[in-house]
Amino acid sequence: MICAAISEQSTESAIDTGINSASMGADIVEIRFDSMIEMPQDLDLFKKISVPKIATLRTTSQGGKCKFDEERLDFFKKCSGCFEYIDIEDDSKLSEMQFKDCKKIVSFHDFSKTPSANEIKEIINNLQKKSDIAKAAFYVRSISDLYEIIIASQHLEGRYILIGMGELGEITRICYDRLGSEITYVSPCIGKETAPGQIDVQSLKKLSKDNCLTGIIGNPVNHSRSPDMHNAAFRSLGINGRYFRFKCEEDELGKIVEIIKILGMRGVNVTIPHKQTIMAYLDELDETSKAAGAVNCIINDGNSLKGVNTDIAGFRESFKAVGASVCGKNSLIIGAGGAARACAAFLSEGRAEIKIINRTKEKAERLAKEFNGTAVDSIDTDFDIIVNCTPMGMEGFDEGTFFQNCIFHKEQTVMDAVPVPEITKFLERAEKCGADVISGREMLIYQALDAFKTWTGCKPDYSIMSKAYGEKR
Ligand code: NAP
Repeated sequence: MICAAISEQSTESAIDTGINSASMGADIVEIRFDSMIEMPQDLDLFKKISVPKIATLRTTSQGGKCKFDEERLDFFKKCSGCFEYIDIEDDSKLSEMQFKDCKKIVSFHDFSKTPSANEIKEIINNLQKKSDIAKAAFYVRSISDLYEIIIASQHLEGRYILIGMGELGEITRICYDRLGSEITYVSPCIGKETAPGQIDVQSLKKLSKDNCLTGIIGNPVNHSRSPDMHNAAFRSLGINGRYFRFKCEEDELGKIVEIIKILGMRGVNVTIPHKQTIMAYLDELDETSKAAGAVNCIINDGNSLKGVNTDIAGFRESFKAVGASVCGKNSLIIGAGGAARACAAFLSEGRAEIKIINRTKEKAERLAKEFNGTAVDSIDTDFDIIVNCTPMGMEGFDEGTFFQNCIFHKEQTVMDAVPVPEITKFLERAEKCGADVISGREMLIYQALDAFKTWTGCKPDYSIMSKAYGEKR
C-alpha cells in the first residue's frame, strides 16, 4: 500500500490533504498529529477521508510534540472507530497495550545507521511479537547498509514495513513490494516530505509498476549530472523511470550487483574508478566492452547482467559533432583507465596513430600493446589530437603541473573527458592557442544517449539531455 504521510498544522488542512492524497492514488494515509498546533476535538471528522488511516502521535524524544504517554494513551483510545491503525514507537510502554478496533503498528527508527541483516531480522521479529504490523526504518549510509536491508528483507516473514532512510535508501521506498514491505510512505506532494528520501504520491504511483530503475555507481558521484540528464529523458519520453546515485566502494561491487538483481533494476552506469574491476562481477560482456576492456554501462536482462561500453560511442559522436577526423592522426591519450581504454578503442577503429602516457607506466604499456600503440614518457611533442582521460582538473581534483608541458596549436583537436567543469583549465589553454576543443560535457551526453537507448530502446533528443546537464557555456 502507498501511504501519504500527512504533517499539517490544522485538522482542516490535514483532512483536505488526506482527501487529495486519496484522489491522487494513496491507498492509505498517515496523520501526524504531533505536527498540529491544537489537537482536534472530534476525530470523527477524519472519516471524510475515504481510505484507511493511521494515527501517529510521536513523543518529543521521537521528534514529536507530546511529552507524556498518559496524554497519548487518552488520544489513542479515542482513535477507535475513526482510525484503522495507530502507530506507536517500540520504546513506549503503550506499545505493549491493546487498543479496541485499531490495528497496531509498532515502529522502530534508527536515524544514524543500519545494522546487519541478522540484527534487522531480530528487530522486526521482536516488533512483530507485540504488533499487527512491525515497522523498522534505518538510515542508509552506504551501499553496504542498503545491502543489509535488502538481504534481511529476503528472509522475513509475516507483516512488516522495512524502510531505508536518506538518499541511498530512496530505492527501498520505490521497490517496497520487492522487499515484502506492506506499506511505503510518500509525501502528499513535492515539498511536503516528512522523512529524508521520501518521494511524492503521484511519482511513486507511476513508478510502482513497469518501472525502469537505473543509476550510476562510482566514487565520487556527487558531482555527476547523469541523474538530471536521465531523469529529464524519462520525463520527456513519458517512461516510468528513475535514475539513482550510488556512491560505491570497490569492496561493495559484489553487493551492488546483487542489489540490482534482487530489486530488478534495468541497469546502471559505471564510472570512476570501477570500469574495469566491475567486469569480473558480470555474467556477460558485449563486443564494445570487450573491445575497450572496460564497462561503463550494465544492462539487466532477466537477471543476467551484461557489460556494455557506451563511452566509445561518446568519443565517436563528440568528434563527429565538431567534424574532427582521426584517420592517420598522431594522437596522445593521457591516462590508462576506463575512459582511456574507450578512447583507444575509438582511435583504433578510426585508424589513428596511438601514443599513451600514464602515471603508472606499466598500465600505459599494456594498453598501448592491446591497441598497437606506443607508451611514451613525455607530452612535450607535437600531436594532432590530445585527449585527457584522467580526473586531473575535474571538480574536486587538483590539475597539478602535469599538463603544463603540453604543446597546443591551431590544426589540433584537444579533448578533455572530464565533464565538470565544462571547460577545464587544460581545455582553456588549448583553446587560447587556437586548438579545436571538445568538452567532456559532449561525451557525457552522447554516452548517456546510448546508455538510455540500451536500457529503454528509445533515444531521447540530444537537446533534452543537454538542457538537463546545464546550458552550454
Ligand atoms: P579510472 O579507470 O579510474 O582511470 C583513471 C586514470 O587516471 C588512470 O590512468 C590513473 O592513473 C589516472 N590518474 C588518476 N589520478 C591521477 C592523478 N592525480 N595524476 C595523474 N594521473 C591520475 O577512471 P576513468 O573512468 O577512466 O575516468 C577518468 C576521467 O574521465 C574521470 O575524470 C571521468 O569523470 C572522466 N570520464 C568522463 C566521461 C564522459 O562521459 N565525459 C566518461 C568516462 C570518464 P594510474 O593508472 O596511475 O592510477
